[in-house]
Amino acid sequence: MPKSKQDICNPEDVALKSLFLGPQSENGDWFVAEVRRIVEHTIGWRRSRYPADGRAISAGDQNDDSFLKLRARLETSLNELLGRLERETPKFTPRYIGHMVSENSLPALLAEFAMLLHNPNNASPEVAKVSARIETESIADLARMLGFDSSHSRGHFTSGGTLANFEAVWRALHRIDQNLALALCLIDRGVLNISNYYATAHSSKMQFEQLLLAHTLRFEDLEPYSVLNRGHCNVKVPAGLTGKNLSPVVLVPGNKHYSWQKAVLMFGLGLDSFWSIELDAEGRLDIESLEARIAQARAEGRPILMVVSVAGTTEMGEVDPVDRVQDTLEQVKDLSLWHHVDGAYGGFFAATLRSAGKVPSSGLATKLAPNIRKAIEAFARVSSITIDPHKLGYIPYACGAFIARDQEHYECRQVTAPYLKSGVSAVDWATTIEGSRSAAGAAAVWLTSRALGFDSDGLGRVLDKTIEARELFANELSRVKGVCLAQPSDTNVLCFSLANPKEPLAMVNQRALQLFERIESGPEFSVSRTTLGQRDYNLFIARFCKLNSILNDGSDLLLLRLVLMNPFICSKEMDTDFARDFAKILGAKVTESAL
Ligand SMILES: *Cc1c(COP(=O)(O)O)cnc(C)c1O
Repeated sequence: MPKSKQDICNPEDVALKSLFLGPQSENGDWFVAEVRRIVEHTIGWRRSRYPADGRAISAGDQNDDSFLKLRARLETSLNELLGRLERETPKFTPRYIGHMVSENSLPALLAEFAMLLHNPNNASPEVAKVSARIETESIADLARMLGFDSSHSRGHFTSGGTLANFEAVWRALHRIDQNLALALCLIDRGVLNISNYYATAHSSKMQFEQLLLAHTLRFEDLEPYSVLNRGHCNVKVPAGLTGKNLSPVVLVPGNKHYSWQKAVLMFGLGLDSFWSIELDAEGRLDIESLEARIAQARAEGRPILMVVSVAGTTEMGEVDPVDRVQDTLEQVKDLSLWHHVDGAYGGFFAATLRSAGKVPSSGLATKLAPNIRKAIEAFARVSSITIDPHKLGYIPYACGAFIARDQEHYECRQVTAPYLKSGVSAVDWATTIEGSRSAAGAAAVWLTSRALGFDSDGLGRVLDKTIEARELFANELSRVKGVCLAQPSDTNVLCFSLANPKEPLAMVNQRALQLFERIESGPEFSVSRTTLGQRDYNLFIARFCKLNSILNDGSDLLLLRLVLMNPFICSKEMDTDFARDFAKILGAKVTESAL
């Protein structure tokens, strides 16, 4: 463990300082110059495009009283807006360690601003000739970082991780609906035995097409059997299967983000289709529980829509064993199972494992533990991934992304709109859940990829430093009386509570809540808190209590939560040592509360 911030600041990190405005606007002059360049470029572009059209706003207009009055009104109101924004929570400072948001990078801000002035809508390449290309290129950059072959992968930007997760469900639903319809149709025609419907419901695209061909079926023949066409109640079910619950189930670990329940409700799957995979004592997806769930689904004849694992949980930044989940699914030889990784938070840690030469390297000095590295290296094998550039990509809201390994996992049920053109394989309004989509996030990812790079010299280095920041905070906090750190901590999120030996958990929670409220009411630091429920985290809570001699009274576990993603937390030059200061303030508040 590092002893102080002096020990861990690397001179090579100086270069990365050019990529952020800085907590004191240290790069302010440069930023102003670049913004000016973008504005001047836009002004020049307009002036040069149709010069023969003449002016619409004359110098006389600009000096007219009514013109000047409105202009003054705008200026006053703008001042009011700017004034109000001064009271917004400052997230640029290393003192903000609350939620999964922090400083935005300069490449991201500049690219978004440049794109904003052009305002393309990536809903259709017709109106977004350039920015649709930029989206394709930046999705390919992300796909390569994640380990996919970017010549096969497909994806698009969404407004966030929630929507990206919905995109995954939407596509998996399309696939299983086709498969299931085919199975029911073949049984109805007497060519498939009832006992074989389960495997057919989990066909790969190739198997599906072979079956269609072998039985000279057309898509239209499947129509009466498709839930997406007919709705749940009107689908045609062959005699032997009537009364059976054929609704697909989603297998999701207990450490999931709440967007997964939303998805199941939103797509009308029914909450009883939401099957939780248990967590192990360390809070990660338990492989034995996954195996049991797969066996249970088969026994009950419930098709498996998809299996989800989480890379970077919202609560503690933990990474599920993606590699072992994928191994498990590959071992189920007769079923082609969809594995989606919810990497909304942790997906970008893949950058720490890619060398600048674009060759995946195993010799990189990343801060990630070996099991976490293995999990992230397995991204290359999964069906699809959610990643949020507006979290660890340091890009402004709203920017998430859904990326599929190949076209097979990108296909979805298409709709048509008469006034918009749609290419068969284009990313456009027909293939995305959202309609109008800003191109700003795509541009921000594009410029970040070029200016910083999604590799261990670029973003990976920034992220490795955030793990160092977590180690530094852990080190300082462990010296504060009563602090119990939640272990393991896979990435850059640090959770803890405070306890006296033999105290009941309910009392420990009460104190943690009090401390949270005291820190929140002070000006020094912004933190967050989370509650781990016994229902999902029972083994983790039992272990936490045992390790810290807390009496496990069956309460949920309330933790203070620090998200240490600001790139300047362990900046050597700053006058404040944030980790030490935070520990000092916490220590003082602990003494006040007479722990
Ligand atoms: C943040 C997060 C989401 C949701 O992302 P939004 O961008 O807030 O919609 C989904 N899954 C995980 C694991 C997350 O951390």
